Amino acid sequence: MSMNTQGRPTAPQAASAAAAGSALLPEEPLLFEIGDHDHSGVDLPDVDVSDDRLGGLRRQSPLDLPGLTEPEAMRHYVRLSRRNYSIDSGMYPLGSCTMKHNPRLNEKMARLAGFADVHPLQPVSTVQGALGVIDELARWLMELTNTVAVAMSPKAGAHGELCGMMAIRAAHDAKGQGHRNIVLVPESAHGTNPATAAFLGYTVKSIDANENGTVDVEAVKAALSDDVAAIMLTNPNTCGLFEPQVIEIAQAVHEAGAYFYCDGANFNAIMGVVRPGDLGIDAMHINLHKTFSTPHGGGGPGAGPVVLSEALAPYAPVPFLRRDGDKLELIEHAGAESFGRLTAFHGQMGMYVRALTYMLSHGADGLAQAARDAVLNANYIKAKLRDVMSAPFNGQPVMHEALFDDTFLKGTGVTTLDFAKAMIDEGFHPMTMYFPLVVHGAMLIEPTESESLQTLDVFIAAMRDLVQDAKAGNVERFTSAPRRAPLSRLDETRAARQPRLKWTPLDNSREAAE
Ligand SMILES: *Cc1c(COP(=O)(O)O)cnc(C)c1O
Repeated sequence: MSMNTQGRPTAPQAASAAAAGSALLPEEPLLFEIGDHDHSGVDLPDVDVSDDRLGGLRRQSPLDLPGLTEPEAMRHYVRLSRRNYSIDSGMYPLGSCTMKHNPRLNEKMARLAGFADVHPLQPVSTVQGALGVIDELARWLMELTNTVAVAMSPKAGAHGELCGMMAIRAAHDAKGQGHRNIVLVPESAHGTNPATAAFLGYTVKSIDANENGTVDVEAVKAALSDDVAAIMLTNPNTCGLFEPQVIEIAQAVHEAGAYFYCDGANFNAIMGVVRPGDLGIDAMHINLHKTFSTPHGGGGPGAGPVVLSEALAPYAPVPFLRRDGDKLELIEHAGAESFGRLTAFHGQMGMYVRALTYMLSHGADGLAQAARDAVLNANYIKAKLRDVMSAPFNGQPVMHEALFDDTFLKGTGVTTLDFAKAMIDEGFHPMTMYFPLVVHGAMLIEPTESESLQTLDVFIAAMRDLVQDAKAGNVERFTSAPRRAPLSRLDETRAARQPRLKWTPLDNSREAAE
């Protein structure tokens, strides 16, 4: 690409290369590279403003926005969107993330003006319908979990963890137990669990998994003491297994004066079938964006309401809703026990609408069916791949996700990473790699209830073909993958360590020269 003296590609060349289509261009140029800076995309008459009220704040230099026609701007974004792999374009078996289909009905509801256009500072009397949705959703969440309170405002699963752990800390403080400074976290936990505990100043004590990939109550008892504030346990866990001793663990934790924080990100596997409140949890976040649909990943959007037991309910954050006859009130200032405010406003309205739409359109029986289908799909994949891939923990049945390790790749010269990259050439998003850490070279596959038997069979056939090729010594197919993606293997470490978040002409010329 030729550059002019300021390091910008000359506009006509960049534009014509882009117009030629993505096949000829390894990278889509930025709008700033395509656009001509002397023009504007809209026709505005010159205005003779001799007198304005901006005083000395009037802009001295041009805005420097790229001038593009509407088709040019539109094509840029459409070309970019085509490079996205999404659940709408193919199977997305990313374990732990629960990437499920988002019914279009949800979008239609979320876009209703009464939900999409409300402002968080509107008088409460003008948003009774929107508050009604939050209230109804809260009731469903408490019903599904058999709990007595729910904090709706956390904006993601990890944020929900923070909320639940702050309630636990407030409860200990209120009981004169503020000295408790240890949080127990099984080694199979999602990284956000120890991160949350550490963020709040707790010392994290790891609990080993047993040979079945679950947590023994005896291991928990051995770690409990007067200094333990809580355990953070994921159930079903990140190996896709239901913790068989969860009730005994809850009892032991409570007897030691600690609380049971449950990571409920995998609620998809048990919604409508098991009520976590019956298992003895004190706090649990629910990832609405995983369990109750909403496209997510890549930074948002999310919502992580936290259901709370009677013991923790008084410490919930503000704001919360209170029903007074037909009217809903927003309680912004609670009593002294609440740990305070977690977010500026009330949470993610669009996500609430999508989640409630998902619930109402499924009904109670439909939610249980979706959980059962998700479990069935995961076990189908596991059963169909077990003879060629290696499954840890004696290959026992799983809940929502099928976990494999890299034993079957031993001696082939193909790694888990290579295998995952080769899946891209087969038209699938890779599964989750190297997580959970408790098994070597982990491959975690979660189909969810979204996938049909036909799709699963195509996926399984592609996986079996890859395994066969790896074992036959066709290493090249893997180490050179992906070949069909616009870009192949990227330096992800450098991208994370030295992100370039701002485009300047100078930067661009230096990068181009490298
Ligand atoms: C996704 C996930 C989280 C974190 O949720 P976010 O919404 O991404 O913050 C925590 N724990 C588990 C087990 C998860 O799968």
